[in-house]
Amino acid sequence: MPYRSTLVQIQPADLSPIPEAEAPRDCPLCPRLVLFRRQCRAEHPGWWNAPVPAFGDRGAWLAIVGLAPGKHGANRTGRPFTGDFAGELLYATLLKFGLAEGEYRADPHDGLRLTGAIILNAVKCLPPENKPIPEEIRTCRTYLEAGLAALTNVRVVIALGQIAHVAAARALGLPPSGTKFGHGAANEAPDGRILLSSYHCSRYNQNTRKLDAAMFEMIFERALQLRN
Ligand code: SF4
Repeated sequence: MPYRSTLVQIQPADLSPIPEAEAPRDCPLCPRLVLFRRQCRAEHPGWWNAPVPAFGDRGAWLAIVGLAPGKHGANRTGRPFTGDFAGELLYATLLKFGLAEGEYRADPHDGLRLTGAIILNAVKCLPPENKPIPEEIRTCRTYLEAGLAALTNVRVVIALGQIAHVAAARALGLPPSGTKFGHGAANEAPDGRILLSSYHCSRYNQNTRKLDAAMFEMIFERALQLRN
């Protein structure tokens, strides 16, 4: 289903609260992802099929870092976690904690607003089988670093899953080898920001009961405690 009728004219920066930290629509830096992007554009010309921009509040105190766009979620709709299984729990939790206003309808035109929170991805482009390779994570970290640098009010960064945890740790200047990942693990960055890790709210983790809503809410309760 087409979500945006003039997709090819829209740059990720046009939709982002931190435009200076966004990749261009045809970012050429990861050859494997560029090839996959071309294939997706040919198969689904009405989809977003481009680096997915950040979504949320530029004045956010809380940044959430996901892994990468899902094929039928953010890669299709152009908004992080929008239209896929993982987004149902993430947006429900943001609404429950007063970090979002409106109604989440899995559609970038649903009018949902984030207040005090912003969502970024470690890798902005859709990777085959949802698995970016280390070089792609390293390359796209330039944008993650620029995004976190632009978000001067952010106090807490929630990383969803181990890959996002490592990317966010590096972006915050933490040594990944000494930065513990675990559900609820918190690490303080050199600038005082807190990296708080969470299991990813993926379909797999929820179906296998590695993560449920109560466990996920615990992370946001902890983030609120760590805010000050
Ligand atoms: S993943 Fe990031 S660095 Fe790589 S092509 Fe996409 S936007 Fe560019």
